[in-house]
Amino acid sequence: MTQNNEVLIIGAGIGGLTLALRLHQAGIACRVFEAAPEIKPLGVGINLLPHATKELTELGLQDALARVAITTSEIAYYNRFGQLIYRDPAGRNAGYQWPMFSIHRGDLQMVLLDAFLARIGGDRLTTAVRCVAVEQDENTATAHFEHTQTRQKLPAQSASVIVSCEGIHSIVRKQFFPNEGPPRYSGLNMWRGVTRWKPFLDGKTFVRVGWHKPAKVLIYPIRDNIDEEGRQLINWVCDIEQQTPIEQRDWNRQGRIEDFIGPISDWTFDWLDIPAMCRAADQILEYPMVDQDPLPRWSFGRVTLLGDAAHPMQPRGANGGAQAILDCGALAKYLAQIADPIAALKAYQDERLPATTQVVLTNRSNPPDAILQEVWKRTGDKPFRNIDDVISQAELAGLLKRYQRIAGFDREKLEV
Ligand SMILES: Cc1cc2nc3c(=O)[nH]c(=O)nc-3n(C[C@H](O)[C@H](O)[C@H](O)COP(=O)(O)OP(=O)(O)OC[C@H]3O[C@@H](n4cnc5c(N)ncnc54)[C@H](O)[C@@H]3O)c2cc1C
Repeated sequence: MTQNNEVLIIGAGIGGLTLALRLHQAGIACRVFEAAPEIKPLGVGINLLPHATKELTELGLQDALARVAITTSEIAYYNRFGQLIYRDPAGRNAGYQWPMFSIHRGDLQMVLLDAFLARIGGDRLTTAVRCVAVEQDENTATAHFEHTQTRQKLPAQSASVIVSCEGIHSIVRKQFFPNEGPPRYSGLNMWRGVTRWKPFLDGKTFVRVGWHKPAKVLIYPIRDNIDEEGRQLINWVCDIEQQTPIEQRDWNRQGRIEDFIGPISDWTFDWLDIPAMCRAADQILEYPMVDQDPLPRWSFGRVTLLGDAAHPMQPRGANGGAQAILDCGALAKYLAQIADPIAALKAYQDERLPATTQVVLTNRSNPPDAILQEVWKRTGDKPFRNIDDVISQAELAGLLKRYQRIAGFDREKLEV
């Protein structure tokens, strides 16, 4: 693509802003159109594994992220009796060149936004504009917008290429696939929250506890030293098997403590009082663990999909954000290398669609915390005397390695 040809990005979430920075780095102009009236630091915690931090490091953002995130030391796996199963070093501790960060989604978005404003400029970002449709002819792609609040029709915008980074409710995806079925429910609902709490373990550990019967909890700090008592902002997620999914896929939907606290009410360990921490939450959100079947294609001429718009996956394994970030590097690379934008979008799709399809499907069948399931099965959900009598550390490491390979953060592969 020539440098004069502009890319129009719909959505200023994690994918949209990262893509803008990647394109700018490659010398390609872009404009971003976001439905929210203002970009606010929404959401709760998100993890950036080394495959994502590698990309963000290439954008020169590692130091800015390290200032606001927790540099995770390890991922520790426990059963629901608080017994340690396995400790997996994270990021540099595992020999990667790049760290693992646990971060508030809003802090990540603000780091991206600050870089966008400094490098590309505020005049290239328009807020309160909702894309309602796209169309194209031989030479241009055009997006139609309405004002998010008044629903008033706004002037259409044309560019050489349009990328839908609209997240799970992408209008462009619906336009290309009008007959797509509803999201596929995994049988799990999840409650997420943040609590101001004293650091636990070394203050940098991401813990995964229990299995979905009766519940699984993930806990990790996302902001350090938030008050004079040296507390951290701790993110937690509780997954519970239920027949009926929570109704809407709404990242901001409020949850209630009484809907999930029952199964974990006695998870009080010497290293953390989990129910007390959940009860003290500042904010509780609920979300169904759903995904959508992988699409046969994302690119249609001059228009393509990226991030959750392209491959909505079960939000586990820190891959919703990471795979969106990986898409951005690939798309910018092909747009810079290939003069014909239609061929570039096709090359991007050919690289990223099979890779993300594997992650979507693996999250269903063999999730990142499959070792918890394995121990749950082998112990019959009872406490163990010695974990080595249940499963060897080598076998546990093998199970983890498999997920790393598929998700694209296998160390040997990432370093080449
Ligand atoms: C408010 C919010 C809170 C979230 N909280 C969490 C969380 O706590 N933990 C977690 O793991 N993931 C969370 N996510 C999802 C996470 O950001 C994504 O899974 C991942 O980062 C992939 O990013 P994305 O850019 O594809 O999508 P998103 O980050 O979801 O970004 C999509 C963006 O597109 C905008 N948009 C949507 N439709 C239109 C339209 N028609 N026209 C213009 N703009 C549009 C949205 O307002 C949003 O800013 C959240 C997403 C949102 C939007």
